[in-house]
Amino acid sequence: RAKRSLGDKICYYEPSMDEGRRERSALTMELRRAIERDELELYYQPQLDVQSGLVSGYEALLRWHHRKRGVVSPTEFIPIAEETGLIVPIGEWVLRTACAEAAIWEKPYRVAVNIASAQLTQADLPKIVQETLRVTGLSASRLELEITEASIIEDRERTLHVIRQLKALGVTVAMDDYGTGYSSLSTLQVFPFDKVKIDRSFVDGLLHDEAATAIVKATIMLASTLKISVLAEGVERQEQIDFLQAEGCTEVQGFLFGHPMPIPAIAGLVGRKRENGGPLPAISA
Ligand code: C2E
Ligand code: MG
Ligand code: MG
Ligand code: MG
Repeated sequence: RAKRSLGDKICYYEPSMDEGRRERSALTMELRRAIERDELELYYQPQLDVQSGLVSGYEALLRWHHRKRGVVSPTEFIPIAEETGLIVPIGEWVLRTACAEAAIWEKPYRVAVNIASAQLTQADLPKIVQETLRVTGLSASRLELEITEASIIEDRERTLHVIRQLKALGVTVAMDDYGTGYSSLSTLQVFPFDKVKIDRSFVDGLLHDEAATAIVKATIMLASTLKISVLAEGVERQEQIDFLQAEGCTEVQGFLFGHPMPIPAIAGLVGRKRENGGPLPAISA
């Protein structure tokens, strides 16, 4: 334990403990500035229809290009953004950018946007979504909102109300990371989801882990009975797609079909350039 004198104050610190905390607060400060510094970018990962083998949509996945650290993974900064409330302005940036970019894609693919739990409990999320669609000109039917299973159990009544309002706008709603959020099976019956995304951890275990395989099978069957689509996340091997196809899974997403990529790298996605490459339309909610 080191002792350091700061004027007349004495503070004790444990270097190892402090390091993690200092690192976090540095990241938080830098994340606060990331939007204005134009350090955020959306990558897009294809989602494919199992029957036709064609791309049905793209999921927008956030990347942070840090001037010193390079690309910071969302698994690192999204939790910090959630704890500090920064996820709300960041989430609005993601929504606006994804809609604006998709609106000028060459083909009218669906775009899927992740919505954090803090955005869901914001009173005006439906209004923000509606305004974003209006300003960007994206038709509502092309927007899908991904809500994690874990985030809906916090305030079920409120969430149900918000999801109904969102669906009334004409957007579709997918339950993300299904199987990891400790909700009950009836959640899929009560909440009007259009789609359920089976978490990658179960897809990973397909064909060699008996329990994971059973969970995937049961989820596909449940979704089909409830007449909602089911997408398997994290498909990396051919044997997984063969199994999923045989079981009647409707959509797949994973490195086997494409990694998340910046738009210019995706053929067929770049349509008109954004007028003079200028700023995205601002939204006053
Ligand atoms: P998610 O929404 O479940 O997104 C899927 C994640 O799985 C992505 O990680 C994607 O790159 C990864 N993935 C896709 N296919 C494969 C595969 O075949 N193998 C493996 N190993 N991984 C695969 P990513 O981009 O690192 O994002 C991680 C998580 O961060 C997302 O999980 C989501 O929860 C969160 N996130 C990312 N962007 C946003 C955002 O804009 N807003 C919010 N609220 N959360 C976001
Ligand atoms: Mg997602
Ligand atoms: Mg997921
Ligand atoms: Mg996930």
